[in-house]
Amino acid sequence: MLQSAKEFVLDTVFPKFCAGCRGEGTWLCEKCLAEIVFVQSPTCPNCQKLTPKGQFCSRCRSKSNLTGIISACHWREGPLRGLVHMYKYEGIRELADILAAFLIWQLKKNPIGKNTVVMAVPLHWKRQNVRGFNQAQLLAANVATYFNLDLLENALVRTKWTRPQVELKGQQRKTNVRGVFACRNSKKIINNKNILLVDDVATTAATLQEAAKVLRAAGARQVWGVVLAKG
Ligand SMILES: [Zn+2]
Ligand SMILES: [Zn+2]
Repeated sequence: MLQSAKEFVLDTVFPKFCAGCRGEGTWLCEKCLAEIVFVQSPTCPNCQKLTPKGQFCSRCRSKSNLTGIISACHWREGPLRGLVHMYKYEGIRELADILAAFLIWQLKKNPIGKNTVVMAVPLHWKRQNVRGFNQAQLLAANVATYFNLDLLENALVRTKWTRPQVELKGQQRKTNVRGVFACRNSKKIINNKNILLVDDVATTAATLQEAAKVLRAAGARQVWGVVLAKG
């Protein structure tokens, strides 16, 4: 097939290579896609008991502002980690389409209820300026488009600059994110809504829980974390 001039130039100057095996021509080859382990049996994010969609089980629910965490894949060494790294730190935004497809695949397994809206875990504006984009926002936008749901932008903001969670351990992560989120002029649009709160990877649930706390205080009925993988 004849390539367009634009495609030819882009492929020559910015050749695609597989995030798993570095083979040329695609961001993810079929062989490496087959290595990614998708979540078939969701579990309670706290105690790993089997639960529908990955909601918190009846014993763990009282300690959680999140309703549950819908996780697309298992976080293993290999192509998924490669994809996330290339997307987040090398800034290859095209990968949002592939990664969002993982989320959509998992979300499609259950009907999406009425009054559901989509939002992304916000970055602090300084970090967003450095990175050039909010990796969670592009994923959230893809999800919202696919399911024809409203995407709430700027309803939740990050008001404090914090150290990256990856540099910290368990309890420190909770302390690090405490009080960092705020809802802006958004009580009306959040009230009574079921929120799909998208992030890339939830290493611990600390960030999602902190955001959920603020959203619940603004009247959200359910807040589901939606992530590529749990750490
Ligand atoms: Zn490959
Ligand atoms: Zn549990």
